[in-house]
Order: sequence, then structure tokens, then C-alpha cells
Amino acid sequence: MAGKNEIGGRKRKMSILIKNVSILFFDSEEELSFSEGDVFVKGDIIESVGKKLDVEADVVIDGRDKVALPGFVNAHTHAAMALFRGYADDLPLDIWLNEKIWPVEAKLTPEDVYWGVKLALLEMIKGGITAYGDMYFFMDEEAEAVTEAGIRASLSVGLIAVAGDPSQKLREAEHFVSRWNGEAEGRITAMFGPHAPYTCPPGFLKEVVSAAKQYGVGIHTHLAETKKEVEDIYKLYGKSPVEVYEEAGVLDLHVLAAHCVHMTSRDMEILKNHGVFVVHNPQSNLKLGSGIAPVPEMLKKGIPVALGTDGAASNNNLDIFEEMRTAALLHKGVNLNPTLVTASEALKMATIWGAEALGLKNVGKIEPGKKADIVLLDFNSPHLQPKIDHVAHIVYSAGSADVDTVIVDGKIIMKNGKVLTLDEEKIYQEVQKRTQRLISN
Ligand SMILES: [Zn+2]
Repeated sequence: MAGKNEIGGRKRKMSILIKNVSILFFDSEEELSFSEGDVFVKGDIIESVGKKLDVEADVVIDGRDKVALPGFVNAHTHAAMALFRGYADDLPLDIWLNEKIWPVEAKLTPEDVYWGVKLALLEMIKGGITAYGDMYFFMDEEAEAVTEAGIRASLSVGLIAVAGDPSQKLREAEHFVSRWNGEAEGRITAMFGPHAPYTCPPGFLKEVVSAAKQYGVGIHTHLAETKKEVEDIYKLYGKSPVEVYEEAGVLDLHVLAAHCVHMTSRDMEILKNHGVFVVHNPQSNLKLGSGIAPVPEMLKKGIPVALGTDGAASNNNLDIFEEMRTAALLHKGVNLNPTLVTASEALKMATIWGAEALGLKNVGKIEPGKKADIVLLDFNSPHLQPKIDHVAHIVYSAGSADVDTVIVDGKIIMKNGKVLTLDEEKIYQEVQKRTQRLISN
């Protein structure tokens, strides 16, 4: 029997026409510009972009006073940690992890993760994030939440080999990859997630590399986050964390490396030569006192840099507007150079470069043939007037509250500021109840 959207047993493709909207374009040199026009979406694909398109659509959106962007990408987070927002603050990373975060994480149930993830997804969708990269545990529950929410995600089971049974964990990760890679109509992709060089010795890393090769997927990891990590790794192996990863073969794969704060020029050369994607998490690095990643140097060397919020316990929100602005301001300030990390670069880090970092080849631009992951910002606000330079407005002045509509894979998942796929009240109740249990002794 044919369902609501099916004709003759085949799924009919829903269509959306966004009219008279200011669209972000990338020219052949990847320079950004805006131009007024229409965007026509059919099924999950952007079918055409142009002036006064003569097409009929199931849904027509009036784009006047709105700006259409490719959806934002939060390339590194731990969504379920939204449960621990505000629980452990103003502590160094090792104490924060050992004495606060790991003890409460030990009490987490799969259902806790499911609800924590839902809170994070609600926040991210409201902030215009259409795709994100995550590493955590109980990832089956996270994948279920992603499926329901309609967002796009690159998910990895976090692997820590210094406790428990590492081979068993690796088998679980393999099971996750085979179960979920390409699921939710292709919105979910999977990677392997060796947590960091200080939790995954080289022998174990090699096993992870061979599993990732076998399944044809990439690696999501933390790398060179703190000075202490680098010192400890030097003491253990006489090499930098980047060199340890290179030697274990990790960098031969598609690698999403979060942080990369403490690196030598040689480390950066290695990352560049291996085409590693770095995720800059400026607010998390500041809050945990980890330092400031050498982003201007990496960009100059041609290392692709994406943006991430990291988990909500070290940020404390999942707001990519804030990360763009922090990235654009921070490097100017500490280097006494206002030309570093331009608004354009910050916006590309949060969109197209983020999509590339997650390995999403068909996402990140509003162009015919690309996946329809589109965000509409409402520019009808005092802080976004006059309409002179949209790129500068988005990076230096806009915020999550300006996000009006979110489309992922051709489906409207937020309209007029309301997320259509998630039950806000229910999420708040569940999270409140669960976090109270988790943090009580
Ligand atoms: Zn992280």
C-alpha cells in the first residue's frame, strides 16, 4: 500500500522552494559572496539555484530579509556530555577528567546517553548546526537519537585502551561501524575513535588502524591537547604525540584530529603531508587552560582546519557562532595582528571545511547537486543592520537566536525557531532527572 509520500509504491520526492533569499556562494577560488535568488530543493538534493526560478514546490519559503547558508558543522563534540553542563568548571584537564568527569561517566546508562544526546541535538539544531562529529560511548543510543532528530552525524565509539578490555572495546566499535555506517538514509557515517595518544598505546593504535582500513572509514581522535600530554608522551616514547600517531600508521587514514594545541613546526609538516583535518576548539581549550592552537600557522601551511565546540562540560554550550567569533578574535589578539583568521576563514571553518573534515564530500555548499543542508538566518534584527557585509555580520555579530529555519537532507527540521523533530519539554524533564541522579553521591 502506498504511504502518504508514495505514489505507485515509489517514494515521491518532496520539494522546497526558498524564494528571494540572500545566498552564500563560493567562487572557484573559494572566495565568499552573497547574491539574491531562489533555491529549489527536490528530495535530499539542491536541484537548482538562480534568479526567479520557474518551478512548483510542495513548500514555499519566503526568503526576504533572510540569508541562506550551508548548514554549520560542529566537527568535534561529545553530545551526551550536555548532561554535565555546569557540573565541573574551572579545573585543569587531568583533574577535570580523573576526579569529576570519569566518575560520573562510569554511572551513565544507555538511556542517559540517549537523553543527553537529545538535549545536545536540540541545542545544535537551534544553533543552525546540520552536521556534527562525535566520539563517546553507548553510541547505538546516540545513533537512534540522530535518526529521530534528522540531523547528520559522524559517530565514533570512543576507545580507551588503558582500562578494561581493549580488544573487547575494539570489537564493539567494529560492530557499531558495521551496524550504523550509512544508516538514517546516509545521514549517519561512522569512524573509529581512539581517544588520545595518552589513552591508546601504539600497539593498540595499530589494531585500530587495521580495523579502520578493513571497514574503509576514518579516525576521530584527540591530539596534542595539553602541554602535559606532550611531555608525558615524550617521556614514554621519546617522540611527540603527532610522531607517535605517524609511526603507528594512524595518519595514513582520513583523520579528524581535535585540538592540536601544542605542536612543533615538524608536527605541523607531518599533519600537512598526511592531509590530516584539524578541529580547532577555541573555547574548550581556553576554559580548560590547555592553550591556544597555532591556527594561523596551520592555515598558512594549508592544513585544513574545522571548528568544534567539544563537549558541553568544557565549553559550556554547543554554539558554533561563538566558536567562529572566538577563533576570529583570539588569534588576532594573542598575535597582535588583526589580519589573522578573517571572518571568511572563520565561516569556512564552520561550514565547508567542517564538512570536508567529517568526510562529507557532497555537503557544505549551496550548489546544484549538493545535499540540501541549508540554514536560514533572519537578518531582520538591529544587530544585523545595515546590510553591508553578510560574512562579517555572521561571524562578528550574529548568534544562534538568529537561526530561523534548518533543513537537513531536504527535510525541514526547524521552522520559525521551533525544532519539529524533538520534544523540548520532555527532553528538559528527562535530563534534569537523570543528571540529578548522576551527580548525587
Ligand atoms: Zn573532545
